[in-house]
Amino acid sequence: MLRTFWRTNALMLLSLILLYNFKQLLQYYSSFSIATAMTHINQTHLLSNGLLFDLTQFALLILLLHLIWSLIITLSCRPWFNLIRHEGIKTQIWLIISLSHFTLVFAANAYLFPTSLLGFLRDTPLASPFGLTVLGGLVAIQFLWGLYHLIGRVATLALVLVSISLSYISSTKVPDAYDPIDKNSPNVFIIGIDALRPDHLGYRKPESHFTPNIDLFLSKATVFDETYTPQARTYVAWMSLLSGQYPKNNGARFNLAPPELVQTEFPLIRELKQQGYMTTYAIDERRFNQIDEEYGFDQVIGPKIGAADAIIANIADIPLVNLFIKLPFSEVLFPYLYMNRAYGKAYDPRLFNLSVSNSLSTTQPNLLAVHFCQLHWPFTSKNFIDIESVEWSGNYNHFMYQAMLSKVDSQFRHFMDELENRGFLENAIVYLVSDHGEGFMLEQDTLVNSGKEDNSKLNVNAWGHGTNILSQEQSNVLMAYRKFTPGEQSRPKLVSGMFSLIDIAPSLFNELNLSLETPDKPFDGIILPNDTVSMTTDLTEREVFVESSLPVKSINASFIDDKKVFSETASKYEVRDNGRVVMLSQFYDELIGKKQRSIYYKNWQLAILPDFEELILIDTKMKTWSSTPHYQGTAPWEKMLASLCDHYQGDQGFDSKNHCRNVLAVSHKTVSEN
Ligand SMILES: [Zn+2]
Repeated sequence: MLRTFWRTNALMLLSLILLYNFKQLLQYYSSFSIATAMTHINQTHLLSNGLLFDLTQFALLILLLHLIWSLIITLSCRPWFNLIRHEGIKTQIWLIISLSHFTLVFAANAYLFPTSLLGFLRDTPLASPFGLTVLGGLVAIQFLWGLYHLIGRVATLALVLVSISLSYISSTKVPDAYDPIDKNSPNVFIIGIDALRPDHLGYRKPESHFTPNIDLFLSKATVFDETYTPQARTYVAWMSLLSGQYPKNNGARFNLAPPELVQTEFPLIRELKQQGYMTTYAIDERRFNQIDEEYGFDQVIGPKIGAADAIIANIADIPLVNLFIKLPFSEVLFPYLYMNRAYGKAYDPRLFNLSVSNSLSTTQPNLLAVHFCQLHWPFTSKNFIDIESVEWSGNYNHFMYQAMLSKVDSQFRHFMDELENRGFLENAIVYLVSDHGEGFMLEQDTLVNSGKEDNSKLNVNAWGHGTNILSQEQSNVLMAYRKFTPGEQSRPKLVSGMFSLIDIAPSLFNELNLSLETPDKPFDGIILPNDTVSMTTDLTEREVFVESSLPVKSINASFIDDKKVFSETASKYEVRDNGRVVMLSQFYDELIGKKQRSIYYKNWQLAILPDFEELILIDTKMKTWSSTPHYQGTAPWEKMLASLCDHYQGDQGFDSKNHCRNVLAVSHKTVSEN
């Protein structure tokens, strides 16, 4: 028997190696190339205890899973081996049983995860409910016979009954409905959709058909039309939203900022906790967003954060593992794969939704900040996209983006239905936002020069997000508000003016009667108007600031290559003892110095670019640019420059071309004259 066990193991190991090589043939780049890119991170950093621990744990678990599987196969062979003496026939029986197990796992993998690289049984009768039931039944009977031979009738029967009742209980368990003790405090839901461009939604582009559910939600919401993210990067955008402050004031200037340089306490979370709220942060992709319990939340839902994510998600497309991460205890065993959108081939949007809604409190009011990342590069998903719904125009990224829009739209609907069915929306405030847009080098997004200036020196269009502040589609975001009150229908409103994601925190403070404490910095944001006009702020005079992340050269290529992007910047990062990738603090200031910075006012944007001599002025309505020395229009750019200089004054590397000298001298002069 022992020989059969090890023989099965050897067969599995051999298959794993073959399958791994087969996957490498199909993949655009291998997991090792990612690992190679990561070695640009100083070798000693790569050997951090946390990373080694995570990788070892993963390898051991894979081994353990396959050992258990071998044991099941061996047990299934046992009764036959007792009946038959002929070695050749024994081997044949072992082969048949092993192959039927392999086929079952491959068929189930192909059925549940059709885009898996090893899903080659997809669309065959085996990968169907009928095929799986028949094959699964045969394999199970074989195993039970083996078990019966080993432990006897009573024990086998007891084991079967216990398993059936356990799975029945877990599948029929209905989660409790929301029934809080405090009925007056509304639930607060801040729902973020990664990279969602407002100009791809129905309210801006009525002929667009990708997002019927988001459009339906917006048709009953207050939409703040011109909203900008302070920086078009996930973590920075969320930090600004939750703190109500610009990156310059909360310290979070890059996605992987060293946590000790960031202000991690949010007055919003602190005050709501004091009011008896349960606070939850949920996100399905943590590579570039490190918000966790350290930031004050009671709980965080989503995959684990760490450098091992990139490596594990790349080697993990193994059928047995894919099937395993459907099970709830995988959250503990495979923390980098469970609910991880970055592991797109097995990411289940509904499973993530349910994990989030089931984590909410049913007795306390909730503050939930949740972020859905399906719209993010590399646009992979568990199921194939509907290629009929999107028109191919030669732009792969944009094609996939539009196809994925429908997927994130269905996820949003399922999530809202969940909240509604469980009673969470009976008294609730919902903000629906995007953290940034996305650049696809589309013709319609290209800025043109308003005069006869040379376009070639300036990037008037760009790929990605956070890479170029002149790309309006990267920083223009969705921000909508909706109040759910019993018996009241909300009316749609489109509020024009200039808004930023930093306005949400002060607005919630106002609506929920919260107040800042003495050491808290004041909010940079304004209170969003209830109506189309504001009682507190002259919306027409509002100024909003937007800065870039790092301008990365490889992002300007026609195909965004994770590997190149990572290797270009990797030397500036380290892997800490907890296994997380973090920007090296000694480079932090230097990298801040390379930022592009800008101010928005009415329909103009004024930008200071570190590698460009002149100031750039953009007319956002006309989609034109000019450098200020050539500008002949009426934009009050000097006034805008004064505000820009005032906001970023003292920031590392800001204004290396000395544009602020004149305006600051002028404004100081006016002050002293007064
Ligand atoms: Zn994002």
